[in-house]
Amino acid sequence: MGKVVLSAHRESRELVKAIESASGTKTSLCYQCGKCSAGCPVGFAMDYTPRQIIRLLQLGLIEEALQAKSIWICATCDTCSTRCPRGVEIASIMDALRREALSRGKVVKEVSAFNQAFLNSVKRYGRNHEVSLVLEYNTRIMNPFKNAEQGPLMMSKGKLKILPEFIKGKNEVNRIFEKVKAMGGDHE
Ligand code: SF4
Ligand code: SF4
Repeated sequence: MGKVVLSAHRESRELVKAIESASGTKTSLCYQCGKCSAGCPVGFAMDYTPRQIIRLLQLGLIEEALQAKSIWICATCDTCSTRCPRGVEIASIMDALRREALSRGKVVKEVSAFNQAFLNSVKRYGRNHEVSLVLEYNTRIMNPFKNAEQGPLMMSKGKLKILPEFIKGKNEVNRIFEKVKAMGGDHE
C-alpha cells in the first residue's frame, strides 16, 4: 500500500474516532444484528440503513457515511439506540455525522434547500406555511412542479392553506433568529 493511501486510511480512522468520541459510543461494539434497522421508522427511505452506517464506520469508510442521505433522513427518534443490544448510540452517531458533514459543507442539496425554505417560512410568518415552503423549495431545487399534483387534493382536505397565518409571538421568533445570527448561525 502506497504512502498516500496509508495516510488517507489513517485520517479516516482518526475521523471515525472523533465521531465516536463526539457521540460517546464505539462502533466496534456492533455485531451487525440489524435490530436498529428493523426498528427505524424511516429506514425504508434511507440509502444506507442504520446498521450499514455503523458498518461503514467500522470499515473506516467515513466519506461514504458523510455523503449518505440517511444521516439527513434520520428523525433522531432514538429507536435504534434503544433497541441496540450492544448499547451503540446510533442516534448520537447520526447527529455527530450531520455536524461533521455540515462543518465540511457536505450537505445534500435537497436537504439544504428544504431547511432554508422551512426557516424562511418560520422567519416570515412565525410558523411554517406549507405552500410557501413548497414553492420556495421547488424553486431552490429547480423543479417548480415537484409534487404539484398533490396540491389540490391536500387543499380539498384542508391540509394546505393558500394564505399564511401570522402568530402572535412573531417578534419573539424574530429575536431567536437574531440571536442565532449573533452567535454565528449561518441562516440566510
Ligand atoms: S442494533 Fe446495535 S449491534 Fe445490532 S446492528 Fe444495530 S448497532 Fe449493531
Ligand atoms: S434515530 Fe434515526 S436512525 Fe435511529 S431509528 Fe430513529 S430515525 Fe432511524
